[in-house]
Amino acid sequence: MIAATQSNHPLAGVSAPGNLSPVDIASARMRENGLRITKPRVALIEALARQPGPVPIEQLHQIVSHEPCDLVTVYRCLNAFEGIGLVRRSFLHNGTSLYELTLGGTPQHYHLVCKSCGRTDRVDYFPIEGAERLVRERGYTQVSHLVEFFGVCPVCQAAIPARQIMPSPAR
Ligand SMILES: [Zn+2]
Repeated sequence: MIAATQSNHPLAGVSAPGNLSPVDIASARMRENGLRITKPRVALIEALARQPGPVPIEQLHQIVSHEPCDLVTVYRCLNAFEGIGLVRRSFLHNGTSLYELTLGGTPQHYHLVCKSCGRTDRVDYFPIEGAERLVRERGYTQVSHLVEFFGVCPVCQAAIPARQIMPSPAR
């Protein structure tokens, strides 16, 4: 039995049926898919549920650092979550993976990432299932899609002349 400690946190972008907590929903889905419900996995789901947007793996690792859970374990958990549709992976301009909790739901938004500062905004979801169907009709299985938008945010435009914005972010 896992206490729903995060029930007061609004879960951005995810509509949870009834009063089930993100951990409840995730646990049910893990069980359905034959994944063991381990402490690190639960801690990661709780951590993801508290994030207002997509987060990089290192940040998640820091949040769950109270668990005996190394970076490789975090990576494997997220990989497994992604495989059963619990999380959605997106990417920064430089290829860094970001993860957010979707709990198997349809994405509610896409991301708009600033190529200069990495800030992430949301773009309202628009359906492209029709495109996925066309791909399936060509005989492909396990079809998924990834939509990201990249640009230079107004703050960066004001701060930096356009010609100085490099194709990859300065570190
Ligand atoms: Zn920016």
